[in-house]
This record gives sequence, structure tokens and C-alpha cells, in this order.
Amino acid sequence: MKKTKKITILIDAGHGGQDPGSIGHNGLKEKEVTLKIAINLKKLLNNNKMFHAVLTRNNDSYLSLKKRKNLLKNQKTSLLLSIHVDSSRQQYVSGISIWIVSSNRMYREINNFISDKTEKIYFSKNIEDIFKNNKNDMYLKKTILDLQFNNFQTMEINLSSYIFQEFKKIVKINKKRPNYASLGILSSINTPSILIETGFITNFEEEKKLRTISYQKKIANAIYIALKNYFQNKSISNVLKNIE
Ligand SMILES: [Zn+2]
Repeated sequence: MKKTKKITILIDAGHGGQDPGSIGHNGLKEKEVTLKIAINLKKLLNNNKMFHAVLTRNNDSYLSLKKRKNLLKNQKTSLLLSIHVDSSRQQYVSGISIWIVSSNRMYREINNFISDKTEKIYFSKNIEDIFKNNKNDMYLKKTILDLQFNNFQTMEINLSSYIFQEFKKIVKINKKRPNYASLGILSSINTPSILIETGFITNFEEEKKLRTISYQKKIANAIYIALKNYFQNKSISNVLKNIE
């Protein structure tokens, strides 16, 4: 039997240690919720042969942005999924939202990488080969990375719609489309990345729910089903193959 390569997913539980993230009116800390959801999601993914899930942190430890991003530099990760909980001054605001990196930020990251000859980032084999054979062709490098980013963005938008579809069944959606942001955690030039805000900790109802194990599991399960459906979908996995 042909051994198929597993889809590696890096799950990033937001905040941790000295950085609690947002705090709810009844004291719930974002870093606790993100870790619980991340651990549940990792278990679900690793019970499926299709996936290999890894956590950026598996306990209440502090991890700098640099350390989180370094985890992506040297390995082939199919997707970074960063888990957060939102906050607002207005207590009535609630619901889930998804964030992906803005094109401006990504083009900036690509330019920085190309002008910095010391930075080493691992790309897929095809891209590594092209880079090796065209060491001094900056224009070509930039074009390849821009194209790859366009593919990543398509993937992120498609995957977001799968995630919304599952969330719709269990929770209110705050914004129905992915939002674009210049977030450091999403700006790795070799990995598609999505950030999920799993509700508002500043909303009394959502804080109450986010505190419970059953709701943390529900959120993790919705993300898992979305990932499974997305990666099983043949036409989309063909797009994926083309970018590898
Ligand atoms: Zn956060």
C-alpha cells in the first residue's frame, strides 16, 4: 500500500505564562481557554491517520512571537492554526471570527526575506530547487514567493468557509468572512496561516460557555470537522498538490 504523507498542522495556543491574553469579567483568562481548545483539537487530529498535529505550547508557558514563528522556519507544516479569544469594551459584542494575513504585510515579509541574505527559511522541495539553481535571481525568487502566497491565500479563504460552516451550527458568527490583518503570527512566508477568535471573553454568556470543558470540546470538534472536510475535498487537495 502506498504510504500517504500526513498533513502536519501546527496548533498555536495564544498567549501563556506571564501573558494571560484578555481576561473576562469573571476572571477567565484567554491563555487557559486557548490551551484547552488546542489540546482537544490536537487529540482529535492525531486520532485521524490523515493528520499529524503539533502544539506550539502544551502547558502554561510563555512563548515569544519569535519562538512561535521559528517553529515554522525549518519544517514543512501544511497549516498554522492560531487559537485566540477576543475581547471588547462593549460587553454585548460576541461571536467567532477568523483572521488571515493581509497582502500588504505578506509582500513586505517577502521583500524582507529576499533582501536579507542571512535568513534561512525552509520551503517545499520544488521551491528549494528553483532557489538553488537561481541563487542570484531576486526577481524570480520574489515572483515564486508571491505566487505561493496567492495560493496560500486561496487556501486560507477556502478553509475559512469550511470553518464558518461548522461554527454556524453551534455558535454566533461575529463576522461572516475572514478579516485581513497585519499580524506577526500569520506572516510566515512558507506556511498558510489562520487565526480563530473563538468568541468574546468580555461577553458574559460567552465567558461562561468558554469556561466549560464541553464547550471547549465543541469548538475543537467544529474546527476538526472543518479541517477534515476541507482536506478530504479532492478538488481542493489538487490545488494543494500544485503548490507543493
Ligand atoms: Zn489573543
